[in-house]
Amino acid sequence: MPLDTAPSVCPHDCPSTCALEVERIDARTIGRIHGARDNPYTAGVVCAKVARYAERQHHPLRLREPLIRVGEKGVGLEAFKPISWEAALDRIAEEFKRATERYGSESVWPYYYAGTMGLVQRDGINRLRHVMRYSQMQKTICTALADAGWFAGVGVKWGADPREIAESDLVVVWGGNPVATQVNVMTHITRARRDRGAPLVVIDPYRSHTAEVADIHLMPRPGTDGALACGVMHVLFEEGFADRAYMAKYTDGAAELEAHLQSRDPRWAADITGVPEQAIVDFARLYGRTKRSFIRIGYGFSRSRNGATQLFAASCLPAVTGAWRYRGGGALYGNAGLYTVNRSLIEGLDALDPKTRTLDMTRIGPVLTGDVSDIGAGPPVSAMLVQNTNPMVVAPETLKVREGFRRSDLFVAVHEQFMTETAAMADIVLPATTFLEHDDIYTGGGHTFLQLARKVVEPYAEARSNHYVITELARRLGAGHRGFEMTEWEIIEESLRLSRLPGPEGFDGGRWLDCALSFERAHHLEGFGHKDRRFHFKADWAAIGPYHRELPALPDFVDIVDRADVEHPFRMMTSPARSFLNSTFNNTPTGVGREGRPSVLIHPADLARLGAAAGDRIRLGNRQGSVVVHAKPFDGLQRGVIVVEGIWPNTAFEEGLGINTLVSADPGRPNGGGVFHDTAVWARRA
Ligand code: SF4
Repeated sequence: MPLDTAPSVCPHDCPSTCALEVERIDARTIGRIHGARDNPYTAGVVCAKVARYAERQHHPLRLREPLIRVGEKGVGLEAFKPISWEAALDRIAEEFKRATERYGSESVWPYYYAGTMGLVQRDGINRLRHVMRYSQMQKTICTALADAGWFAGVGVKWGADPREIAESDLVVVWGGNPVATQVNVMTHITRARRDRGAPLVVIDPYRSHTAEVADIHLMPRPGTDGALACGVMHVLFEEGFADRAYMAKYTDGAAELEAHLQSRDPRWAADITGVPEQAIVDFARLYGRTKRSFIRIGYGFSRSRNGATQLFAASCLPAVTGAWRYRGGGALYGNAGLYTVNRSLIEGLDALDPKTRTLDMTRIGPVLTGDVSDIGAGPPVSAMLVQNTNPMVVAPETLKVREGFRRSDLFVAVHEQFMTETAAMADIVLPATTFLEHDDIYTGGGHTFLQLARKVVEPYAEARSNHYVITELARRLGAGHRGFEMTEWEIIEESLRLSRLPGPEGFDGGRWLDCALSFERAHHLEGFGHKDRRFHFKADWAAIGPYHRELPALPDFVDIVDRADVEHPFRMMTSPARSFLNSTFNNTPTGVGREGRPSVLIHPADLARLGAAAGDRIRLGNRQGSVVVHAKPFDGLQRGVIVVEGIWPNTAFEEGLGINTLVSADPGRPNGGGVFHDTAVWARRA
């Protein structure tokens, strides 16, 4: 029997940010993890990978102590030997000083992402960056494309409360797979289906786990969702489902939109998307006649060169029908904008010099290999600290990322929980705490709760928190800022005070604070986020990002994707596997066992044309390289479309090169972003 149960919050890169109950067996050991029943969003449910978190927390390969590399880069543990914390931190500080003396402070590039979503442990690295004038990092790898698309129309990053899904008469999951990636959404969808008979429509280029349980699955070719949205809106206008009074009051550009859609009828959309014309018409009618229709917008269809335009087009639907007027109606992409936490102390924003150069994180391969379009006349990146991310696996253009990390003149420190492939390229590796071993505060993009979590168990071996590493480096580097003199909890308390939010004692049970907006604000009935308070059917892409020239203002199919051609006849998506979360969990035995091995989902007819059968080795390739996977015949996608679920380690592939070898680091339009589902490839029997 567990000793007790301790509250916590899931820190992983997932919009659900679940409220957790952790079985604590002793001061160093956990049992199972459960969802908090009394949190109305989590509602007692967590995904299987976090329920069995003990596998990860107590994994025999967790890093125990600081390490210094004495062998070749990329080999792994055997190329390292132990070093003391003091010596490791001294060495990192020396290297940062050396890089600064030689090339200037911008040659140091702190690099991080969302391996933990806690604000102090994730974003504290920015305080060091800003105080020291190190290169800034444009955070493009996940939300840049989706943000751009949502902001174009709505103008502010929030939407209908996800709990309202239970009050919907129609739920549309567009570009997401919550059964695999955000299971809590299904809790609320299940309520709507059970209590209201609401149909579930899933729009996804392949029959995902969520599409499998849907009432209707629309399966467009990857990169064509914009055409689908236009075809649907054509019907909405044509058949009288457009709410003209709503549009007159709350939107801008409706007349131009209607005229523009004349030529975007369901037949046109069917030709581009491959979705049957009648299915488009039927869905449009269902959507049009259902007032309480909730679109849960996911990230999937934004991960394409035209992804922002696709998401923008989908976001126009509730503004045409006026579904925003109704409880259970409207849409949600993300709620990050409703949290008013003052980040100044956490991130050292008072020390930010906007003139410091900014490097695009998704383009880490080109950046580290000195691409002039990234570096320009500036200094090379010559020293890095990496926290909470594994770019050797998750970033595009693996060959360039590897070449960059292999540079003998690049010093790299990685603070990690495991010897990831990025850690294996480092000079110094520091063991990191998990979320159960440190304090933090969490916002949740998929709901409305601000949450606090204290450490649950003692840190494993010599593992230390991100905050510890940053403050110790600051001390050695002479970086002065109040935040470096405070504990995590002091930073949290002061940040809440600065934000005019209640202190921890004002949180429910000391755990969460519901930041939900009123119905009117959440549904934009007091106005959308633009200056004129209207939803914009005409996007001002130039105001959002530099790569705007190819983008039309009105919603449309924008044909700037990596098109299939005679040499590259397949369009490939790299969708998330159910048991992994980016590269997290891809080393836990149960998850790996469930996923099997790197495989390609391919239509049986396409597989037969390759002269191959189930289980055969298939080589996928393009101009960037090739990888070997195993064939899984699957009729839940269109011919010419393939899916490689992941993200598997590179080392799980037989030639040591993973799927991101084939994915381009081209910036998505208009403001950058990873184009992970926008790759044309050839396929052959290997
Ligand atoms: S659903 Fe997401 S937030 Fe919830 S436990 Fe799983 S990974 Fe964490």
